[in-house]
Amino acid sequence: MKIIVFISELAPEVQSQWLISIQNQLPNETIVLPEQINASHAKDVNIAIVANPDPAELAKYPNLVWIQSLWAGVEKLATVLASSPIKLVRLIDPQLAISMAESVLAWTLYLQRNMPDYAQQQQRAQWHQLPCIASADLRVSVLGAGKLGVAALNALKKLDYQVSCWSRTPKQLDGIQSYNGTDALSTMLNNTDILINLLPLTPNTYHMLDEKLLAELPKGAKLINFSRGAVVDTEALLKLLETRHLSHAVLDVFEQEPLPSSNKLWHTPNVTVLPHISAPTNLQSASQIVAENIKCYREKYIIPDVVDSKTGY
Ligand code: NAP
Repeated sequence: MKIIVFISELAPEVQSQWLISIQNQLPNETIVLPEQINASHAKDVNIAIVANPDPAELAKYPNLVWIQSLWAGVEKLATVLASSPIKLVRLIDPQLAISMAESVLAWTLYLQRNMPDYAQQQQRAQWHQLPCIASADLRVSVLGAGKLGVAALNALKKLDYQVSCWSRTPKQLDGIQSYNGTDALSTMLNNTDILINLLPLTPNTYHMLDEKLLAELPKGAKLINFSRGAVVDTEALLKLLETRHLSHAVLDVFEQEPLPSSNKLWHTPNVTVLPHISAPTNLQSASQIVAENIKCYREKYIIPDVVDSKTGY
């Protein structure tokens, strides 16, 4: 008998919602928590479904073939499994891409239509109309053109923004100026009013948005970080926000989450702090995708797209 172990650090009630939802999709599978597997049955586990697992837990299953993450970002597991034969599958869910595209639009409009300034004006009971820039005149660039990046780019294009993207490998996307390579990144940054980060966190992207790169954005540019906090060097960002080289940053992700109450970002007036909500995993659609991936493996021995251990994403 083959067993699927479900390893997470989710709150017990959330964990049991996931278990029920996935089990309903896979009535013929045995999906259990680590505490329900005794030592003699550990060898029967060949698939793990995980959400922020303790890596030490994974080591208990000697015949583990692949791991299905419930999250799209898997940088911690990718690091732990870099030289392991165990395959890592992250969540690829069209619903997640829709949610991210909605967030990108919402917060791009928030910045385009001066909402941070109007919120401050209201605090001072100040009636003052600010210039409104047409979307066709606003240059919006996205770092990353993967599953979430492309959905965001297409949504931005529909609203008529001047849209660009930067990725590791070249892309051809209709109506979108695509860049790749270090020199091209400078060109894109020099021509960006709102920069949206959707790069995965990997050894190559850690603190990639440092003082030098952020300073390549024109004075008054704005940053939205929706992927991972550590892609941005926060000290450098704060410096550029203080000097007003960057006029505003919308940050949904941080190097430490939850963001500690003592962190300066909470009280920096030209920063909007969000509690990692730009693209939450959808229980229903994610459960269906996880179940389909597992059925495909059981029937055809095909493991879905796996994280590349060389690139880390
Ligand atoms: P993805 O499909 O793997 O796409 C990643 C993109 O980044 C690809 O275009 C890739 O280039 C590019 N890239 C990676 N490393 C690069 C490098 N060193 N230089 C240039 N480009 C590089 O990932 P995704 O599904 O779009 O997700 C992106 C990230 O969003 C996730 O990793 C996760 O951290 C984050 N996320 C956040 C939330 C939230 O709620 N805040 C929710 C879900 C996901 P190529 O196309 O050339 O390979």
